[in-house]
Amino acid sequence: MAARIIDGKAIAADIREQIQTAVSERREHGQSTPGLAVVLVGDNAASSVYVRMKRRDCEQVGFVSQDYDLPATTTQAELMALIDELNANPATHGILVQLPLPESIDAQAVIERIDPAKDVDGFHPQNVGRLVLRLPGLRSCTPHGVMTLLQHTDVDPVGAHAVVVGQSNIVGRPMALELLNARCTVTVCHSRTRDLRDQVAQADILVAAVGRTGFIPGEWIKPGATVIDVGINRQPDGRLLGDVAPETAMARAAWMTPVPGGVGPLTRATLLENTLAATRQLDG
Ligand code: NDP
Repeated sequence: MAARIIDGKAIAADIREQIQTAVSERREHGQSTPGLAVVLVGDNAASSVYVRMKRRDCEQVGFVSQDYDLPATTTQAELMALIDELNANPATHGILVQLPLPESIDAQAVIERIDPAKDVDGFHPQNVGRLVLRLPGLRSCTPHGVMTLLQHTDVDPVGAHAVVVGQSNIVGRPMALELLNARCTVTVCHSRTRDLRDQVAQADILVAAVGRTGFIPGEWIKPGATVIDVGINRQPDGRLLGDVAPETAMARAAWMTPVPGGVGPLTRATLLENTLAATRQLDG
């Protein structure tokens, strides 16, 4: 039997609708309107597309989108000064600096300059530390969005063996922690993992975040597994494909995310959730 599709697009649309309602209610009660500053430095084509979508999402739910498009020649000091200004601005509840930044800029220093209370990407060490310690805080959008997707399946994560392929700071590592916090037994794989196939074959929940088209053959998937494909790999013809070869995987898995339309929409929806949560935390 073919896997059931986890429809990220529909789930994200529901989340946006709920957020839109919450924003209208805030207005009716004279409370502040969430403001998200989206900072883009340079002209990376993929980043421009992501930023455009994030800004459109903001407008759709009634947030104020504060747009900062800076030239690639922006210096570290100039970017830090902008972050300081946004940290101090009471109308700004969330700050997102689109990565990657030009090589001349120390991205980690920029991330650490953002007020953790406005760090809606969840990348600040303080928020990552809070995730490690299972304390409330702003969560990294993609891994947290994956947890929302899992909640829309009948899969019980408690005791399930989750295998995460990829250990990046923005996806793999926080993903492993989210799954651990949900009481999965977690294995994290990376480029030095021996016998990747054996690891993948044991996954009740597989999260692929490698960044290589069809890197995980469907034959590796455990029958009945839940497959979350985080990979977004643009093909020469413009199509987007995931890290898991979809046909055989669909035949073996019980649940699977499509690419596009799976994890991507949840990443964006979680950014909106984080911005609303930051607003409530800052302004009530
Ligand atoms: P990175 O390049 O930072 O990380 C890739 C990871 O894959 C690394 O940990 C790397 O291991 C691992 N890897 C590489 N080769 C192998 C291999 N042969 N075997 C096992 N593991 C391997 O990528 P990101 O985490 O930033 O992104 C991953 C993918 O997810 C990309 O396609 C990206 O576009 C997509 N993405 C999608 C998002 C969404 O919203 N859907 C959001 C963010 C990313 P090592 O550390 O050892 O090098």
